[in-house]
Amino acid sequence: MTRSPLSQNILNRFLKYVAIDTMSDPHITDHRPTSDGQIELLRLLESELRALGIGDIVFDPKGYLVARIPSNLPKGKSVPTIGFMAHVDVADDVAGNGVKARVIDSYDGKDIVLNREYSITKDDNPLLAGYVGQQLVVTDGTTLLGGDDKAGVAILMALAERLVANDAIGHGEVELVFTSDEETGSGMDAFDVGMLRSRCCYTIDGGERGEIEAECFNAATVEVDFQGIPYHLGAARGRMVNSVSMAVSFIASLPRSESPEATDGRYGYYCAEEIKGSSIHTHAIFYLRDFELEGLERRIDVLRSLAATTEKLFSGGKVEVNSKIVYQNMYEAIKKDPAIMEAIWKAGEKLGVKLHEKIIRGGTDGARLAQMGIPAPNIFTGSHNLHSRFEWVAVGAMEESALLVEQIIAHWAGVDA
Ligand SMILES: [Zn+2]
Repeated sequence: MTRSPLSQNILNRFLKYVAIDTMSDPHITDHRPTSDGQIELLRLLESELRALGIGDIVFDPKGYLVARIPSNLPKGKSVPTIGFMAHVDVADDVAGNGVKARVIDSYDGKDIVLNREYSITKDDNPLLAGYVGQQLVVTDGTTLLGGDDKAGVAILMALAERLVANDAIGHGEVELVFTSDEETGSGMDAFDVGMLRSRCCYTIDGGERGEIEAECFNAATVEVDFQGIPYHLGAARGRMVNSVSMAVSFIASLPRSESPEATDGRYGYYCAEEIKGSSIHTHAIFYLRDFELEGLERRIDVLRSLAATTEKLFSGGKVEVNSKIVYQNMYEAIKKDPAIMEAIWKAGEKLGVKLHEKIIRGGTDGARLAQMGIPAPNIFTGSHNLHSRFEWVAVGAMEESALLVEQIIAHWAGVDA
């Protein structure tokens, strides 16, 4: 079966990038990025972009690369700069280094044997049925593959090559953003948003074909300190206040039906994430999530009122609540500029790709970017079973993602800045 030059280009790049060890390490907090391989890959991307003739590049040693492809529209036509983002690191859930990818040229519709121990089964992967006769990439069963997010990186790099080589595709200024340490959750901490000119920045970091995401959780971390009153245990009656008992009472008052393990879809939750202490002082950390910002604020209020109740129940004890919004639903920023989602839907129509919207029960780098003022919806990459040895990537879906991005760029070329 003959493959398109674009899909061949994406596949070649994908195989090259997954072979570089870029596993990030959430336990390292004192330097960025958290692994040398991420710098190696960012440097490789930089040199590949330069070889394409792209000169407007910013390399930030903290682990970011921004490259701008200049507009090729007639002089005087002013359209918005549009950004696209992917991250170079891979997760550490299973081994993320030493990846040996295997290409299946024409999927035969059966279970895919990875090694003696592991297989990707049709039963667990009903979507495989849609890819019979098509090209897939899988692992050797010992590591993850890294489709999250090297598929996104390969898609953007192949597209950059196509835009530069083919002047028939009219486009405004296109900004490509490659980030690091996304999987640690703190990948955007050192990001200087001043580097970007984009009106919006689509992240290419999603899953199955056709899936797009514009909503994620609002998230708060709440630290609660319970202060007891110590007393000699032998004479403690009526005098001692035990902070461990206070914390236990506080946590037991949270609705079990609103925990992560009891919710899905659009329901938010309270999660007692960590607890440490003694009878004198107990420290607990809570993760609160909600798709509505008011809902999240209500949840924080619930903890505050529960703190007051606990103080009443344990006379003399003190409860202090400190809350911090960690990230916000990216939809808050996206909804203010309807043209951003319209560009995706219009591009999908033009391409004849069926798109469907999904909500993310978590956060993304896009959510962090949205908080910095740049709305950032997420687009599929064709990757499945992310962060696992059972990962598989459909080359045709990666190509479709690249073509969708191209159509989004073409759409914005017709929008006045
Ligand atoms: Zn990702």
